[in-house]
Order: sequence, then C-alpha cells, then structure tokens
Amino acid sequence: MGAPVAFTATADIGHWIAGQPAAGSGERSQPVFNPATGRVARRVRLAAPADVAAAVAAAVAAQPAWGNTPPIRRARVLNKFLALLNEHRDTLAAMITAEHGKVFTDAQGEVARGIDIVEFACGIPQLLKGDYTDQVSTGIDNWTLRQPLGVVAGITPFNFPAMVPCWMFPVALACGNAFILKPSERDPSASLFMAELLQQAGLPDGVFSVVQGDKVAVDALLVHPDVKAVSFVGSTPIAQYIYETGARHGKRVQALGGAKNHMVVMPDADIGQAVDALVGAGYGSAGERCMAISVAVLVGDVADRLLPLLAERTRTLKIKNGMELDAEMGPIVTREARDRIEGYIAAGVAEGAELVVDGRGLSVPGHEDGFWTGGTLFDHVTPAMRIYREEIFGPVLACVRVPDFAAALELVNAHEYGNGVACFTSDGGVAREFTRRVEAGMVGINVPLPVPMAWHGFGGWKKSLFGDLHAYGEEGVRFYTRQKSVMQRWPASIAKGAEFVMPTAK
Ligand code: NAD
Repeated sequence: MGAPVAFTATADIGHWIAGQPAAGSGERSQPVFNPATGRVARRVRLAAPADVAAAVAAAVAAQPAWGNTPPIRRARVLNKFLALLNEHRDTLAAMITAEHGKVFTDAQGEVARGIDIVEFACGIPQLLKGDYTDQVSTGIDNWTLRQPLGVVAGITPFNFPAMVPCWMFPVALACGNAFILKPSERDPSASLFMAELLQQAGLPDGVFSVVQGDKVAVDALLVHPDVKAVSFVGSTPIAQYIYETGARHGKRVQALGGAKNHMVVMPDADIGQAVDALVGAGYGSAGERCMAISVAVLVGDVADRLLPLLAERTRTLKIKNGMELDAEMGPIVTREARDRIEGYIAAGVAEGAELVVDGRGLSVPGHEDGFWTGGTLFDHVTPAMRIYREEIFGPVLACVRVPDFAAALELVNAHEYGNGVACFTSDGGVAREFTRRVEAGMVGINVPLPVPMAWHGFGGWKKSLFGDLHAYGEEGVRFYTRQKSVMQRWPASIAKGAEFVMPTAK
C-alpha cells in the first residue's frame, strides 16, 4: 500500500433516505471538525422528527419485498457490498481519520473488523436454517423458523464510525430487515459512504437509510411505532435511557454502554509484553475505545519492575496527525472531550494519585489548534478515586497496586462496569481461574483487547450492556429475528372427533 490519500470532501453532510441523499427538513446543523487541525471541515444536518418519519416510511414500504427475498439472494447483495468495501477500504479509513482523529493504520484496522462482520452476514442462509423434528406425534411434524422483525434502527457512537454500524446493519439486513442508522454527529461521513456502497451493491431503495442527528432524531426513533428493535452503542447513561425508553415503547433493545477495562499483570507475566500491551491498549486510538485498558492492576512486585518502562514509553509516544504513517496516537475527537479528559487528570491529582506522566497542554508543531492531549500515567490510584470509578475515555492509564491474585480479582469484580478485561500471566492455572471467576463479558488472556471475532458476538456485563443479546455473531441473528414454531399434519393423519385434552405425542 502507498501513502494514504486524505479525505477532503467539503459539502455539507445530510441524510440518506429512500435510496438517495436528502437534505431533510430540519433547520439545525452542527460543525464537524478535523480534530488534528481543530478546523471545521464541514457541517452535518440534524434530522427533525419528520426526517425520521420519512426514513421509517421508506423502510416500511421496502421491507416486505426484501424480507421475502430468499436469504441467498440477500447474501449476494451483501457479497457485492463486501467487494466494494474492500475496494474502497482506504478511502473509508481516511474518512474516519479526518473526522475522528485516530491514526490511519488504526482506522484501517477498524474497517477490517467491520468487514469481518459483513463476511459473517454473507453466511446468512446457513445461519437462518431452522430446526425440524419429524413425527413429534404420529403424522405430525414440528419446525421452527426465524423471521425478520421488520424495520429496525441502530444508534452508534463516535469512536468507531464504520465498525460499530457494521456490528449491526449487515446482520440486520441479511436477516431481511430494513435498517435505519443514526450515526454519531461528530463523525457522520462514513455512514453515508457505506449507504452509497450498499446501493451500488444492489440493495433496494429504502432498505437502508441514514438519518444524521442528535437526541431529537434518537427520540423520534425510540417512540416510532413502526421501529421494532433498537441497537445502541454509546455511553452508559444514554444506553440505560435508550433501553428503558425503547422497552416502554414495546421495542426489542440491546444497548451497549461504557467501560472501565482492567488489565491484571501477575508477577510471572512477561513484563516486556505487558508494557507493550498497556501502551497499545491504553493509548491506542487515544484511549477512545470501549475496550481500551484504562486500569492496570499490578500484582505483588510487578509495579516496581513495570512502571519505569511504562513511564518511558508513555513519555515518548509519537502523537501526530493520524495521516502521518508513523503516528502512534492522534488527537482527541473534540475540544470539549479534550477538556473533559484534562479535567479528570486534575481531579486525579487533587484526589492524591501520583501523576507519573502528565499529558496535559500538549502542542503538536504545525497543528497548534488541534485537540491534543498526551498519554497520561497515574500510580497509586485507589478505588475511591473518580479517575478509577468513572470512564474517562481518553489516554489516561491508572495503575492500582494489589498484593495478590485474590485482591486483583476482587477489585475487578467490584467495579460497576464489566466490558473487557485482561490477565497477563504465564500460569495456566491462574489464567483458567481468572477466566472462570471474572465478572466481565469479554476476557483476554495475554490479549489486551479481546474484541470477539465476527461469529462470536460482542457484549459486556453489568453496566456495560442493557439487554440480553450481544451484538453480531449468532446472538445478533437472534436479536434481528423472531422465532416461529410450526406444527403441521395433513388430513389423512387426523383422527376423527374433537379432542378436549391437551395434545400429547401419540
Ligand atoms: P454517546 O452516548 O454520547 O453517544 C452515542 C449515541 O447516542 C450518538 O449517536 C449520540 O448522538 C446519541 N446520544 C447522545 N446523547 C443522547 C441523548 N441525550 N439522548 C439520545 N441520544 C443521545 O457516546 P459517544 O461519546 O459517541 O461514544 C463514547 C461512548 O461509547 C463511551 O462511553 C464508550 O465506552 C461507549 N462505547 C461502548 C461500546 C460497547 O461496545 N460497549 C463500543 C463503543 C463505544
């Protein structure tokens, strides 16, 4: 691959409704920044309820025919979409870097993980294969099938503008639903680009729509009677709101929330590997990942051996415009997010944590107006501190020292979040015990970012997920379909006379 071509679109960003770009009727719009330069790159329109209603109406009109299309033909459309995504993957990655700020190679990784889910969804004929029991009673057969819900919606966060929508819509569409995406208003371009590719792939108009917007658009989706299910990924307070409001309006909801992911480092771990893992998983994507490691739990004498190495790596992170190919970390998504992160650093100092590396006030030559903050490292953090309890969602790593494995496990399990967790050790017994007893949805053993593969499904526990089913994988297929059970017999096998007792196998 050669040098990436930067994304330079200038037009305002609107919606995608009924198979075409739409300006919508909403009067409101807001700026979209390039976080590396701090400049407004373009504006995004914010949908009014009437725009949401138009997208839902188009979806209601288009879904029956799409749902009635044989799964293998739906899969063929997704296969073409897959080919187009592969063809344009670097364009999409550059688009992500331009609006989110993450480094280009990381954006490429995001696109690759999204593509994985499209590949999984292409297997939908196999995934929708029902169960069948011959002869449940003499002359009677029973089978189950899974049918689409109808019109479903997805509301996604800023931190993965391509991958998180791909956790949802490929599976939802493959199952025969129409899908309405409400992406983050901070980096809205990737979703529109994918809408165009879906159309080029042959998806019928109205089956996939994008409404740009904020709470107004979200609320319109949550109360719309024709939206049957809502998938949400974002912060915990909003996830809880979406879950409660959606459920109150009779919808199926999966709402994935925030996180505070711990990485336990045991005394027998390879310290060099643990340092690499903490630097990559703590500061990669500027810590703006729901699976980012934000707490290092240092067991026994690990702290004294690991911290000098970790501090050195934190101080020397290459923080640049993400389009520079040697960048390890880019800017923060917005000025407000940067200020909030730096506010947490001040709070950590005030609460008595030891600030080993202070990332505040970073300036990057040539990009003085960008939204920068450097990697920050705290030691001697305690569970009572806000920087331990709350999700910071920035490049701030908190080290907590504990005496032994039992104390490490107790600490992790007492936290209100339970998204990802990791344990670095060379002891198989410890790893097994950790895996079985830890209270989190996704576990890494010597793997710092254990994001499950497309066919396994993604989801946390505790306040990291409201709802029952995880995103994508077979749980995703279950979420976007409902089961129907059929009992069938034919006249020749029907005994004469009415039966007044509960039917049993005969
Ligand atoms: P956010 O909660 O602010 O926004 C997520 C979505 O909700 C956006 O589309 C936004 O427009 C909408 N929204 C925001 N406020 C709303 C309101 N009051 N009412 C209705 N809708 C509203 O999250 P974010 O800042 O975009 O993303 C970062 C958060 O997402 C972090 O907390 C991170 O942990 C979380 N996240 C979780 C996962 C996961 O799988 N659990 C994955 C990625 C991100």
